[in-house]
Amino acid sequence: MDKKQEALRAIPQVDALLESAPVKALLQETSRELLAKAAREVLAQTREDILHDRPVSLSDSDLALAIQQKAQSYRLPGQQPVINASGVLLHTNLGRAPLSRRAGEAAFMAACNYLTLEYDLKTGQRGNRHDHVEGLLCELLHAPAALVVNNNAAAVLLMLTALAKGQEVVVSRGELVEIGGAFRVPEVMQQGGCLLREVGTTNKTKRADYEQAIGPDTAALLKVHTSNYQIVGFTESVPVLDLSPIAKKAGLPLLYDLGSGALLPLGDYGLSPQPGPKEALQEGADVVCFSGDKLLGGPQAGLIVGQKDLVDRMRRHPLMRALRPDKMTLAALEATLQSYLDPAMALAEIPLFEMLNTDLVTLRTRAEGLKTALEALPLVELMVMETTAQLGGGSAPGEEMPSFGLGVRHHKQSADQLARGLRNQQRPVIARVQKDWVVLDLRCVRREELPLLQDMVKAALTGKDTPHA
Ligand SMILES: *Cc1c(COP(=O)(O)O)cnc(C)c1O
Repeated sequence: MDKKQEALRAIPQVDALLESAPVKALLQETSRELLAKAAREVLAQTREDILHDRPVSLSDSDLALAIQQKAQSYRLPGQQPVINASGVLLHTNLGRAPLSRRAGEAAFMAACNYLTLEYDLKTGQRGNRHDHVEGLLCELLHAPAALVVNNNAAAVLLMLTALAKGQEVVVSRGELVEIGGAFRVPEVMQQGGCLLREVGTTNKTKRADYEQAIGPDTAALLKVHTSNYQIVGFTESVPVLDLSPIAKKAGLPLLYDLGSGALLPLGDYGLSPQPGPKEALQEGADVVCFSGDKLLGGPQAGLIVGQKDLVDRMRRHPLMRALRPDKMTLAALEATLQSYLDPAMALAEIPLFEMLNTDLVTLRTRAEGLKTALEALPLVELMVMETTAQLGGGSAPGEEMPSFGLGVRHHKQSADQLARGLRNQQRPVIARVQKDWVVLDLRCVRREELPLLQDMVKAALTGKDTPHA
């Protein structure tokens, strides 16, 4: 007890500490204000440590080092890049699709300069912030009109509010989806001021169900892509191709929340074909909306394409102002869409396609390379494993593709401890825990990240964490 009191009394005052030589030396790189803030926090922590009988050092040089690290931590971004070794391509918690370099640079340019966001260089007059991107969308998807909002949830809300407020919207019971968080189709309907008219049953909805539900109060038919679940077995749903004549006959728009919206066919990667926005329009949907950061591989955005009169009603709606995307998003989206003007360019530039396209032999070779590099470490067991990667991100239910990874086990650490150690590195590594193995799935690790991954895993396995804060 006395010893504790003694230690507490030995804690220096902030002002005195700031005058000590090692701390004073830090003034060269950090302002006095930040050093004082860091010193107060370090001393408060030291006091806590003493009270809890944790070992502390009160030497000026050790305190100065702690203050320096604390001061540096103020500038570390809370949002840090990580290595995605989870095997989930569109991991919503990890920011879904990484942008192409071209898109990232466009966003950076837009962020740090004045730009022609709403300015027409030819006339010197006000322009439209959406022109560039919307023109590209119309061209790529053969769409009469296009509109971009903040995300796909916003697109669905705007679509329902602008086109069906106060009226009924007919939806299949099999498509009343919840896409994580608070996005549930029935609730978005309610927010949009529409009345949900459910038809069919959970597993089966037929053409006649839609036909019978249409009445004088019906404003639209809505189809929703069941992005994150599958109804399998005894099932039936009505495809756009069959729904379109029903909508046409009744003089109603057919709206389609496509969710992911791939612009290139995904069948080549062993995935089942995903409905694309271009095809949905061709098959007769009147308005289609989808996400910018799912299978498109762009920034968070809600992309809307369809008949001009309908899209214009959405564009003119007062809610549009609240849902409009910012300049960085528009710049990144424009650059992403430009890649798609030439599919070969999209395949080469958009990271999602690089990950999808890496063949199994390459992934296995990379896993073996990683194994060889780590093999000499003590107490470590390594195993190259066949794994299963997932699309994820509410993009395509149950869509999996074969992958390779490295299983790692440490004789003195549990799998959970090791996974935590990996997350605690300078470039955190997000891995999967599978029974008592930590699995580093290489499907979403890009080639240029491999050396860094190796370093981080090595540090975690040797207990040399490189804590980030
Ligand atoms: C992902 C998804 C949404 C939400 O899109 P965000 O871009 O995440 O807002 C809406 N509907 C469907 C069918 C989806 O898959």
